[in-house]
Amino acid sequence: MQAPVVYLNANTERQSGRQAQVANITAAKAVADIIRTCLGPKAMLKMLLDPMGGIVLTNDGHAILREIDVSHPAAKSMIELSRTQDEEVGDGTTTVIILAGEILAQTFPYIEKNIHPVIIIQALKKALADALDVIESVSIPVDLDNDAAMVQLIKASIGTKYVNQWSEKMCQLALKSVRTVAVVDGDHKEVDTKRYVKIEKIPGGEVTDSEVLDGVMLNKDVTHPKMKRHIENPRIILLDCPLEYKKGESQTNIEITKEEDWNRILQIEEEQVKHMCEQLLEFKPDLVITEKGVSDLAQHYLLKGGVTALRRVKKSDNNRIARATGATIVNRIEDLKESDIGTKCHEFKVELIGDEYFTYLTKCDNPKACTVVLRGGSKDILNEIERNLHDAMAVCRNVMFEPRLSPGGGATEMAVSVKLAEKAKTIEGVEQWPYQAVADAFEVIPRTLIQNCGGNAIRTLAQLRAKHAAGENTWGIDGDNGKVVDMREYGIWEPEVIKQQSAKTAIDSAALLLRVDDIVSGVRKHE
Ligand code: ADP
Ligand code: MG
Repeated sequence: MQAPVVYLNANTERQSGRQAQVANITAAKAVADIIRTCLGPKAMLKMLLDPMGGIVLTNDGHAILREIDVSHPAAKSMIELSRTQDEEVGDGTTTVIILAGEILAQTFPYIEKNIHPVIIIQALKKALADALDVIESVSIPVDLDNDAAMVQLIKASIGTKYVNQWSEKMCQLALKSVRTVAVVDGDHKEVDTKRYVKIEKIPGGEVTDSEVLDGVMLNKDVTHPKMKRHIENPRIILLDCPLEYKKGESQTNIEITKEEDWNRILQIEEEQVKHMCEQLLEFKPDLVITEKGVSDLAQHYLLKGGVTALRRVKKSDNNRIARATGATIVNRIEDLKESDIGTKCHEFKVELIGDEYFTYLTKCDNPKACTVVLRGGSKDILNEIERNLHDAMAVCRNVMFEPRLSPGGGATEMAVSVKLAEKAKTIEGVEQWPYQAVADAFEVIPRTLIQNCGGNAIRTLAQLRAKHAAGENTWGIDGDNGKVVDMREYGIWEPEVIKQQSAKTAIDSAALLLRVDDIVSGVRKHE
C-alpha cells in the first residue's frame, strides 16, 4: 500500500510536531495575558477600538475577545472557548480563559520533556473528573425564595463589574426580570432570558431610573398621528400578515384596454382592504399590531373604527408582546378567533423620550415576558451595563436550575488545587506530572485575584494553601485588599454550574490544543 500524499502548494505554511504545539501554547498564553487584569472586583477596563471606529469599554472577558482581531488559530480557538462558556452559563468567561492558558503553560514543560501529548491528555481528563468531584464537595445548597441570599449571590457576580456602584439596583433588575419570565410547570423549568427579556437602552437620565416593566416596551410610534396614544385595558390583536392589498406574484401581467377596467382594478383593491379591516373591526379591538405593513387606506378604516395600529414590529418583539398580553399571533385574518385577543395588558401608552417615541404595553397580569429599560449617561456606558446585567441574569437563571453554590474568591479553585495535589502523589508513572500541573494551574485564579488588587501573591497563597490543607475549604481571597478570608463571612458565592463549566471548558480546550500536531495553512503570510 502506498502512503497517502499531501500536496501543499507553494504558499502553504506548515508547522509540525513540537513546533506546532509550542506555537499554540504561546498564542493561548498571550490571549490569557491580555485578559488577566480583568478578573475580580479590582478589574481594569479595556478600551477597544472596533473596526467600524466605535469604542467598546468593558472588562468582560468574552466581550473583549469578541472584539479583538487575532490571526493565530489557537488564539481563535480560545475565543471560541469563551463563547461556549458565555452561551452555556453566561458568566465566568474571564476565569475560563485564564485557566485554560495556565493549564497549557503548566503542561508545557512536559511537552518539552517529550512526554507524549496523549499521556498528558489522559492525565488532564483524569484531573477534570477529580476536579468536578471536589467542586461538588465544597458546594452547598441555596434557598431560591430567600431574597437576601439571591441578591447577595447576584452581587458577587456584578461586584466585579463596572455597574458595581449601582449593585443594589442591578440585583433587583436581574432578579425581577428572571422571576418574571420563569415558567415552572411541574418538573419542567423554563427560564429563557435571551428570548423573553428585552433590554432597551435609552441614553440620558440616571442609572437608578432603570426599571423592569410589568410588560413590554417598543421603540415605535402609532402609524397614524390621529390614532389614540393612550388606552386603558386594550383588546389587542397581533398579526404577522400585512394589512394591504395583496399584490400578485411578480410574474403576473395585466393588459388593460379600457379606462374603466383600470378604475375597476383600483376598486377591487380598495374593497379587499376594506373587507380585511371590517373583519378585524368585528372583534372590537383597540390595538392592532402587525409584523408587516399597514397601507394608508387600512389606516383610514382602522382610525375610523377607533383602532390604534402599530406596524413593522419585529418578530421577536411580537413574541414578547404575545406572552405579556396573552394574545396569539394570527397569520390569516380569516382565522381570527375571540380567544386570540390579548386582554392581560391594562395600559397602552406612547411616550416621547428625548426625540424618540416609545410604545408601552404595561400593567400586565403575570406577564412572562418583560422589557428592562436601562438609563444612563452614554451609549458606551449603557452597553457595558447591558453586558453586566446579562451576567447577573445568567447567575440568577443558573441557580434556578441548579440551586447549589460554590465559594468564590478563588476558594473553590484553591480547594481543587490542594486536593488534586494530594491525589497526584498516589498516581503512578509519568501521568503524575501533568496531573500535578493541572493542580498547580488552578492556583492561578486566587493568585490573579491577589495580584489584581496589588497584594503579595507568594505569601498570601502560602497562607491560603495552609488553610485548605487543614480542610478549611471555604477560605479564599478578599478581592479588595488581597487578604485571606472565610467566604462564609465575606459572602462571595457563585453558582456551582459556573465553576463546573469553567473547569470543563478550560481543560477540554487545553486538551484539544495539545492534540494538535500540525498547523497547515493555505493562506499566504502577510509581509
Ligand atoms: P468572570 O468573567 O470569570 O466572571 P469576573 O471578573 O466576574 O470574571 O471575576 C470572577 C471571579 O472573581 C470569581 O472567581 C469570583 O469568585 C471572584 N470574585 C468576585 N467578587 C469578589 C470579591 N469581592 N472578592 C474576591 N473575589 C471575588
Ligand atoms: Mg463574573
